[in-house]
Amino acid sequence: MQEQLQAAVSRYQKQVDYLELRLDQSESTSISFRGAQLDAIDRSFSLSGGIRACHKGGWSFVTFNGVEELNDRIEEAISQAKLVGTETTSLAPVETIQDYVKLEIKRDPRGVSLDEKRRIVEEYNRLLLEFDPRIQTTSASLGDRAGISYFVNSQGSCIVQEKLSISGGFGAIARGEGGIVRQGYESFYSRSDFNDVVGIEDRIRSAAERAIRQLEAKPVKGGQHTVVLDPYLAGVFIHEAFGHLSEADFVYENPRMQELLVLGKPLGIEQLNVVDDATIPGLPGSLKYDDEGVPAQRKYLIKDGILSQRLHSRETAGKMHEAPTGNARALNAAYPPIVRMTNTGIEAGEHTFEEMIKDIEEGVYAVRMLGGQTNGEMFTFSAAEGYNIRNGKIAEPVSDVTLSGNVFQTLKDIEAIGNDSVYLNGGCGKGGQMPLAVSVGGPHLRIKNVVVGGR
Ligand SMILES: [Zn+2]
Repeated sequence: MQEQLQAAVSRYQKQVDYLELRLDQSESTSISFRGAQLDAIDRSFSLSGGIRACHKGGWSFVTFNGVEELNDRIEEAISQAKLVGTETTSLAPVETIQDYVKLEIKRDPRGVSLDEKRRIVEEYNRLLLEFDPRIQTTSASLGDRAGISYFVNSQGSCIVQEKLSISGGFGAIARGEGGIVRQGYESFYSRSDFNDVVGIEDRIRSAAERAIRQLEAKPVKGGQHTVVLDPYLAGVFIHEAFGHLSEADFVYENPRMQELLVLGKPLGIEQLNVVDDATIPGLPGSLKYDDEGVPAQRKYLIKDGILSQRLHSRETAGKMHEAPTGNARALNAAYPPIVRMTNTGIEAGEHTFEEMIKDIEEGVYAVRMLGGQTNGEMFTFSAAEGYNIRNGKIAEPVSDVTLSGNVFQTLKDIEAIGNDSVYLNGGCGKGGQMPLAVSVGGPHLRIKNVVVGGR
């Protein structure tokens, strides 16, 4: 396969400024339950390919489903690029790479029968359904995908990567007095071992436990509060509210953001460090090369409180005269790579959780994420769970905790950073490509003057 792709690129590469072929071959299974019912069970094989050509700054993207049609599709991509190209192609230079990335797999999901997978999901689903009579319904799913990705470009790079992902999601919906509905959710992710799915009963049960606990909660008192975010919500905040603004394609197209996001600008306290790090092993956003063949990196988006870097594809780096960062990613080879995050998080600080809450007379502890939206600098997130903080202690649970504000003001208002940073799996959507595997990380964060909306 590799030789065929290389031969095709060398046949056509002189006709355009840049030519790239990507191809994914994979095998996947998925199983899902909804309530007590088996919703879907599926095994599939797929091959998808994508061709990008660039000529005089004009890009084209064409997909293909088999090597037999490769020449026709490449010719199509070349003529489309020539049709739109009127300026100059600016791609930040990167080293030429020849590599085969082999995967270390402990227990391969391809060696586990569909029946055994079904039994595992069914059992976890049963734990949720039987947790409490107030659990109304559940959702439980398990999926795995194993395969190989090829990348060949006209600058001489050829990268073959073995890939594996195993993921699951378990949700419980509880109904209480007066018809109020609460939900709890738990997910897991592994890049190397099917046994990571086994023996996680306690984690699964915690989804139902959280849904039930929230039935008792009274709506939070609205207003401006000192808020402590748990690591999950801190991670989602930094991904959604700040990380997306760091994506250079967004900045490049947005004059106001260029003004707000001048590198070197102070954005928060000196203890604030935000990274996007694809080199941490085994996380959903971890990779050795991005989908333009650029080696993965650890980047400080904010270093010691100062805006220090943004996320680039080769094109945005070239246009903005900055270094490429290995952040061009695609959902699979049938989509073009665009600027995306990998594993994005806030580095741990020095405070224990007790230290962070001990002098809060009245405040809110917001836990996990239910949903949210961002619009430029503005964000609104609803926490999955909340608690009042009173006289330095965690008090009764509260519901309807929505947090909103301006991201730059909120970054400035971060007062204390916990010593307990963790990464959790997430899915990111952008440009019609979702969910892209990423992770979000953070420690507990204490933020002043957050607008908390109650009911
Ligand atoms: Zn996202």
